[in-house]
Amino acid sequence: MASPRPLALPPGVTESVFQKFIDRIADTLGSNNVIVVESVHDLPDGSYLEQPYSHDAFHIVDKDAFIASAVANPRHVDDVQHVVRAANEFGVPLWPTSLGRNMGYGGAAPRLRGSVVLNLGKHMNRILEVNVEGAYALVEPGVTFEQLHKHLVDNGLRTESDDPEEKKKDKLWMDLPDLGGGSVMGNTLDRGVGYTIYGDHWMCHSGLEVVLPNGEIMRTGMGAMPSPKATSRFWHGKPHEQPGNECWQLFPYGFGPYNDGLFSQSNLGIVTKMGMTLMPAPGGYQSYLITIPRGEDLAQAVEIIRPLRLQMIIQNVPTLRHVLMDAGILGKRSDYTLDDGPIDDAGLEAIAKKLNLGIWNFYGALYGPEFVRDAHWTAIKTAFSAIPGAKFFFPSDLPADQPHVLHNRHRVLQGLPSFEELKWIDWRPNGAHIGFSPVSRLNGDDALRQYELARTRAKEAGFDYMGTFTVGMREMHHIVEIVFDRRSAATRQKAHALMRSLIDECAANGWGEYRTHLAFMDQIAGTYNFNGGIQTRFNEVLKDALDPNGVLAPGKSGVWPKRYRELGLRGKL
Ligand code: ADP
Repeated sequence: MASPRPLALPPGVTESVFQKFIDRIADTLGSNNVIVVESVHDLPDGSYLEQPYSHDAFHIVDKDAFIASAVANPRHVDDVQHVVRAANEFGVPLWPTSLGRNMGYGGAAPRLRGSVVLNLGKHMNRILEVNVEGAYALVEPGVTFEQLHKHLVDNGLRTESDDPEEKKKDKLWMDLPDLGGGSVMGNTLDRGVGYTIYGDHWMCHSGLEVVLPNGEIMRTGMGAMPSPKATSRFWHGKPHEQPGNECWQLFPYGFGPYNDGLFSQSNLGIVTKMGMTLMPAPGGYQSYLITIPRGEDLAQAVEIIRPLRLQMIIQNVPTLRHVLMDAGILGKRSDYTLDDGPIDDAGLEAIAKKLNLGIWNFYGALYGPEFVRDAHWTAIKTAFSAIPGAKFFFPSDLPADQPHVLHNRHRVLQGLPSFEELKWIDWRPNGAHIGFSPVSRLNGDDALRQYELARTRAKEAGFDYMGTFTVGMREMHHIVEIVFDRRSAATRQKAHALMRSLIDECAANGWGEYRTHLAFMDQIAGTYNFNGGIQTRFNEVLKDALDPNGVLAPGKSGVWPKRYRELGLRGKL
């Protein structure tokens, strides 16, 4: 039988070399774990839970621009090493994913057309340890937030119950992003965020195990020191099978240069194990909503948030959500307007009134025993009361039988998985979205200027502004969701052009993105250009030294290995 021909080959790789590579890895992984992406018929967009590995379901450019030549499903770390070594031998680029649900940023699709996508999550999805005393977990790539949550529940470490007495028995909570189906590892490596006290996922990880571009295995932090259990004369396993150092998940830094950053948003290694710290159950919880009536109140709200957040009176990562984000969860666009043009101020006010929301809506939570929560709430409520017309809600103030975003935030802000945030993607028919995510100072004027800029440009391009400010400690991730009709090439082109102009205009203001879709990695890397772009040059020196054949995720975050730089691929889609 003729071998399947891939729809896209990696640059510079002939069909026969590609075939040899596929045969080599199929010999080890099993042919059912190596799937060649053969034709456009192989490109169904699937759904959030049935995400494609061949391409980006939310393709903002042509569907086959970021397309895999094949998808390989390693079964364990040995397989990953084998694939990496074969990739070096045959010069085939790889693109690792944990689950590929990196929605709005490219999903599982590779930056370089024709790369072989490694679907690590398919088989490598064990929770290796949950340690109650040290409050951490050690996970493989495919462990989802939902799976980790279920593990905690099944092992009696936390309850789903809202009964405060039941909650008092909880031992461990975890943090999660808006959607519970992503992997703990993929989200953390891409520096995604959640909304509890442990919302900064990268800050909360501790210790990695990495397959390096030459196939060797390294453990970071305290993991670099072997456990006495593994050095005893009774131990004969492979490095990746060794029990980790007892402090691997307790102290992230170890000794010497702190290497972990090299493996986040990067292409220097394939992470095969990651430690994630968990939150000791707080002993009490109360979510809340503060509605903020006018668009321009954003500036005052942010000025109020800053001292409260810096002093940790606001304990968690709260969000300031624009009304259309909530409207998108509670209905489709056509439920609010039949006018196709961007919704104007009067339209926004009408929607806010209908939903009993403000133009901005601040969702937060209080953690700890009642007296702690009461003290924090008094401070927060007093401060926000300075905004004329601000209103304050606990979930118990709302009818339980009517949908409200606070009911969902009540779950997410205590680490309970949810899928509600998928709904706003259907704001428009055939909805897809792309995230534009600049960092903003925690400063009212800056936030307002960023909002006005994004909103104005979105309106000019024919899109509604949908956005959220996710409040870190000293900054905010301003997540602007551009929802577009993926079946309309004209709309995709407009969304693409809007992204490009927003990136440049924001950079002119000193605002850079914290994360991005594949299509904009080069442009954004180009805006981080202090001192003649030394950061990218530095990254590429490391890349060439550690990955001389350029096999790992070429082009990721705008970092290109020498062989593809020489082909002039930077900036090419
Ligand atoms: P999610 O868990 O949200 O589905 P993805 O698997 O899509 O996350 O990964 C998010 C990003 O992190 C992608 O750019 C991907 O290439 C990178 N990534 C994911 N897992 C790994 C890994 N184990 N090693 C290296 N990079 C990874």
